[in-house]
Amino acid sequence: MTRTATASTALLDQVDAAAADARRLWAEHFVPQLDQTSPVPSTSLGLQRVHAAFIAAVGGLRTGTTRCCPHVDLSAPRPMVWVAWRPRVIQCGHPECMLALDVAATGQDDYVCDGCSRYAPSTLTAVSWTSGVFLLGADLCRRCRTTPGAVA
Ligand SMILES: [Zn+2]
Ligand SMILES: [Zn+2]
Repeated sequence: MTRTATASTALLDQVDAAAADARRLWAEHFVPQLDQTSPVPSTSLGLQRVHAAFIAAVGGLRTGTTRCCPHVDLSAPRPMVWVAWRPRVIQCGHPECMLALDVAATGQDDYVCDGCSRYAPSTLTAVSWTSGVFLLGADLCRRCRTTPGAVA
């Protein structure tokens, strides 16, 4: 095995461990604080829009347009948190760093859907899920939580 392959394997092992930590943190800290834990279909338009914002935030770590706590380092994988109501902020999974994301508040104060930007006070629900090392959260209206073509 070459040195590069060994380094890549070590990094992948770190990513796996961080992803497992992210799932554990999600179960311990996110799920008890959020209303709905059932997965939203990945084909949901709202979820696709939220994912696009998430990808932009990750890209912003490279360009400096996304704020983060000092523990976020893409070369040293660890659980990281992104929520749609703070789209330009990524924090690590330390509870004190997650405070900056208002995870407990879930952003429902404004009753605006993160998927479609509609004011939807009666159907807005906080949803959360993991993607690799990331814990993700968003407030989605009923329409944005369902698959395209489904009756909401
Ligand atoms: Zn941190
Ligand atoms: Zn929506």
